[in-house]
Amino acid sequence: MLRHAREKLPKILITGERFHPPEPEVVIEGGQTHIVNFREIGETLGRDLKLIATFLSKKLGTPYMITEKEKKLVLTGRIRPELIKPRLESFVNTYVICPVCHRPDTVLIRYKRSLILKCNACGAETPVPKI
Ligand SMILES: [Zn+2]
Repeated sequence: MLRHAREKLPKILITGERFHPPEPEVVIEGGQTHIVNFREIGETLGRDLKLIATFLSKKLGTPYMITEKEKKLVLTGRIRPELIKPRLESFVNTYVICPVCHRPDTVLIRYKRSLILKCNACGAETPVPKI
């Protein structure tokens, strides 16, 4: 029953007007912080992993690397999950959700020197800050 229900869920979940990206799974190992489901987050958001990583790294003020095979995000330092979640949400709100129709069916386009969020649902083109 549960399995059946899960299969029926669309890839991108929309609850009302809110879009819910996967929760970051944060594991602190030694002096590093790993987001183990980072690849899944990138796939759900339809965004380049490096772009998301650069954004988080800048907001958290810590260098990052992405592991070769599993595409985990590794941040330097011990960073509490409570600090990572709102930054990821802020990425989603700025670089994924269309500000006009609030849907996540968007693509990021580099145009000349700017970055534009183009919505496939309503056609809006919104300039967004460069990362
Ligand atoms: Zn839109």
